[in-house]
Amino acid sequence: MAAFGTVFMPEMIISWFDGNGWSNAEVVSSDSLQLHPGAHVLHYSSTCFEGLKAFRHADDSIKIFRMDRNIERFAQSSELLALPELDKAATEKMILDIVAKFKNDVPEAPGSMYIRPTHIGTEPAIGKAASPSLTSCQYILLSPVGDYFSGGDTTLRLLLEEHGARCAAHMGMIKSGGNYASAMRPIMKAKAELNADQVLFCPDGDVQETGAANFLLIDGNEVITKALDESFLHGVTRDSILTIARDLGMDVQERQLTVEELLERAAKPGCEAALSGTAAVLTSVGTLIHNGKEHTVGNGGVGQTTLKLRQALNDIQWGKAEDKFGWLT
Ligand code: PMP
Repeated sequence: MAAFGTVFMPEMIISWFDGNGWSNAEVVSSDSLQLHPGAHVLHYSSTCFEGLKAFRHADDSIKIFRMDRNIERFAQSSELLALPELDKAATEKMILDIVAKFKNDVPEAPGSMYIRPTHIGTEPAIGKAASPSLTSCQYILLSPVGDYFSGGDTTLRLLLEEHGARCAAHMGMIKSGGNYASAMRPIMKAKAELNADQVLFCPDGDVQETGAANFLLIDGNEVITKALDESFLHGVTRDSILTIARDLGMDVQERQLTVEELLERAAKPGCEAALSGTAAVLTSVGTLIHNGKEHTVGNGGVGQTTLKLRQALNDIQWGKAEDKFGWLT
């Protein structure tokens, strides 16, 4: 199976901001983007993006999961990066139009159609190292994806990194390319030297998130994860899992979690930890590596509560359970 995000639908939908307003959206070939090599985005990283999914239901209808949340975050990232303001209604229509156009290509469960809205600063202006691009474009790519953690039966190894951050603290909640670039080296190092799957960034002992997913500790009836602040990405999956957990009567705690408390709780036999994200869904963490020592989380296997929460989320996404929170479009 092709790697996640390497297969694209042949066409995307695109709209340009010329400094005054947005052009009508157009469906064009997915590889037809033309940019000046001096475009602001290519030098000063004026770029943000989103990741959401459309699911094929048993009656062949296609449902997009929590589109409003992703558009909200897209608009907020654009604003915090001083990109031109998005027209949220227009972005929504673009997503609906391009998904409708390729509705026959949305894979059957457990696959889905990954949707990648992107907003970039296009002004050819290399003198603008400290001022924003006045022009931009947004486009929406589609990529059919499979179930990469097949039913959630994988466990991950994470390196706890206390000395480096994923990105600048005030940038974490922005879904911007630069944040991913700054996290790349520590992740590569952890993979090469420790055979870790990911780095869990814990600057000054504050358990934050990994390179592409949020972190949740599940200890009996308690679900513990960092409270929202500007230092990390406010995952839509995180919010969805917390909502489901609360609905199941679990004790959800959004608060600071220190490395010390994490390791103490992880040592208990029933403890579980998981990563949440649109791609990862909810995937168990089996091992934490800290200061050269390996710590097994609970019994080291796939967590039963993790599986239950993952299933509850998947059931809503694929229409096997009632959409009681109104998450599907
Ligand atoms: N943190 C980071 C850094 C991410 O890239 C992602 C994936 N978008 C997440 C968390 C999870 O966010 P979501 O649940 O909205 O996919």
